[in-house]
Amino acid sequence: DPRLQGISDAIRVVPHFPKPGIMFNDITAVLLRPAVFKDAVDMFVERYRGMGIAAVAGIEARGFIFGPAIALAIGAKFIPLRKPGKLPGEVISESYVLEYGTDCLEMHLGAVEQGERVVVVDDLVATGGTLSAAIRLIERAGADVVECACLIGLPKFKDFYKLDGKPVYILPEER
Ligand code: 5GP
Repeated sequence: DPRLQGISDAIRVVPHFPKPGIMFNDITAVLLRPAVFKDAVDMFVERYRGMGIAAVAGIEARGFIFGPAIALAIGAKFIPLRKPGKLPGEVISESYVLEYGTDCLEMHLGAVEQGERVVVVDDLVATGGTLSAAIRLIERAGADVVECACLIGLPKFKDFYKLDGKPVYILPEER
């Protein structure tokens, strides 16, 4: 797909951010190029349109950039999965382990209904811990996670594209 080259070119790797030793994949230059931003969204829309997806759940913060655009285009609702203490209503929470310490994702009660088909969106998957927490959260609420979708998959993750039995779709890289 010729669109992949433009997307791949717009992703910048920033060494030693936010900490020494970390190679940070920065997606903000994708957003500065409307045609590239649209190509990325379109590739997900083409994959999920017509699949009976009721909801797109986006992970804070960069899942909030791509998720709503995909949701609107496929006629699904958008559900923000937020860091603790940000959602004003009643929530369910799911903790996950990070390299140092733990973090947590929260979702409003009633955001999904029993049996609804959901796609989880984030910019990048590394260990998969964040997506796993999102899957557990949505499935505890009785909905069905069809797939997780990310622009980028870190190479060390690429040997296992399945997460808790759920497929992870990563935009294939054109090199
Ligand atoms: P995981 O839980 O899979 O180890 O880490 C994925 C989460 O960390 C995602 O929410 C993602 O946005 C964030 N993340 C980790 N490393 C990077 C990176 O290099 N670039 C970006 N944009 N996000 C990252």
